Amino acid sequence: MVQLHETLETILAEVMRRNAGEPEFHQAVREVLESLNTVIAKRPEYAEEALIERICEPERQIIFRVPWIDDSNQVRINRGFRVQFNSALGPYKGGIRFHPSVNVGIIKFLGFEQTFKNALTGMPIGGGKGGSDFDPKGRSDREIMRFCQSFVTELHRHIGEYTDVPAGDIGVGGREIGYMFGQYKRLTNRFEAGVLTGKGLLYGGSRARPEATGYGNTYFTRAMLGTKGLDFDGRTVVVSGSGNVATYTIDKVTQYGGKVIACSDSNGYVVDENGIDLGLVKEIKQARRQRIAEYARLKGEGKGVYYVAGGSIWDVPCDVAMPSATQNELTGKDARKLVANGVIAVGEGANMPCTPEAISVFQHAGVLYAPGKAANAGGVATSALEMQQNASRDSWSFEQTEARLAAIMRGIHDLCAETAEEYGAPGNYVMGANIAGFVRVAEAMRQQGVI
Ligand code: NDP
Repeated sequence: MVQLHETLETILAEVMRRNAGEPEFHQAVREVLESLNTVIAKRPEYAEEALIERICEPERQIIFRVPWIDDSNQVRINRGFRVQFNSALGPYKGGIRFHPSVNVGIIKFLGFEQTFKNALTGMPIGGGKGGSDFDPKGRSDREIMRFCQSFVTELHRHIGEYTDVPAGDIGVGGREIGYMFGQYKRLTNRFEAGVLTGKGLLYGGSRARPEATGYGNTYFTRAMLGTKGLDFDGRTVVVSGSGNVATYTIDKVTQYGGKVIACSDSNGYVVDENGIDLGLVKEIKQARRQRIAEYARLKGEGKGVYYVAGGSIWDVPCDVAMPSATQNELTGKDARKLVANGVIAVGEGANMPCTPEAISVFQHAGVLYAPGKAANAGGVATSALEMQQNASRDSWSFEQTEARLAAIMRGIHDLCAETAEEYGAPGNYVMGANIAGFVRVAEAMRQQGVI
């Protein structure tokens, strides 16, 4: 663990006291503060006027009851959250997560990370995040609709195209965004397309938005490999998860000549040494909404195809690891295993998937490591492009949108690399991302006074 400057140590202690019992939030704040050691030495103005303390404190936190009726006519209660973290650069922007593990600390860590990520994109968007402890697994389509409608019945008074613009995240995809948009429209009597992103193409969605996070991580990781004269071509790749981010990571890596040999869900992982059949993954996950174990059953076990219940997908030897499921899914032990098996690069599709110990193992072993804050920013960047299309009542082609996404990811990569260099840590993308994101937000806050 890096020793913090005295001022930063005091700030972290206060954050931990004020947000007791929220370990993920403490972890995310600590990582950013570690990167600021050199910043406050070079730019002391950023430690003045409680700027760092203000950045660590959400502007607003909303917690609400979500009552709904299940298919057997039972009344159910969940808890809804929206943490509006920082609006220095634009309206709050960040996804909504439906997962039983959701609590205020998880949403706060995600909103904090989102603030810096959004700043890195260079687009006019602030940071926020929301969600519920609702578990969509096994729920019927009607139950999902009723839940989304109830969720938005409360949330609608806090969001808007100039206020706060949610999108999808774990457990929230195009179907859920559609139900939420429909209810928002009904409650407000406004077709306010820019209030949510990740919409269907027929009613204001953007082409390339579903692909954006996975594609974006692949562009970033490829640019990082390129700094060492390397590429995906002919490399073996392991991608955890089998949801939105994982699916389109597999797609783009394969287009670049990489061979993805494993993916997973929360029950276990599947290995296909011939290369994962993405069509089959989509069929299982998006059409049938089944478990990834089905992959091995449908393909037939043997000939390099097998399923492992539980266990760690990071035991599978690979050249490039792309964690794309959830926070803290890749531990120090996993990292040591990956290093022993010869991994050369790690590109984070998920938010904070590697534990601090895992990051340290990669950095000490000289493994190229791309933090999610930078590498998975393609999703929100394309959401901002969706907002642009909505504001101008326009709809761009897939090629045009993908080209913008690729240019944005290149820009983020170069910004992180140059900032790391400037602050004396060449090749350290964690430092580069944290410092570059922080400076943009901090500078805008300074110019807007003590608010
Ligand atoms: P999805 O719900 O589409 O997919 C999530 C995948 O991860 C599923 O395969 C799921 O398995 C698995 N997973 C979820 N929770 C756990 C867990 N606790 N343990 C093991 N596996 C788990 O979500 P996304 O693909 O959208 O999101 C994945 C990650 O990427 C998240 O960290 C998210 O915050 C991040 N992200 C997403 C963006 C987007 O545009 N969607 C943008 C930027 C970051 P199962 O089905 O069994 O739950």
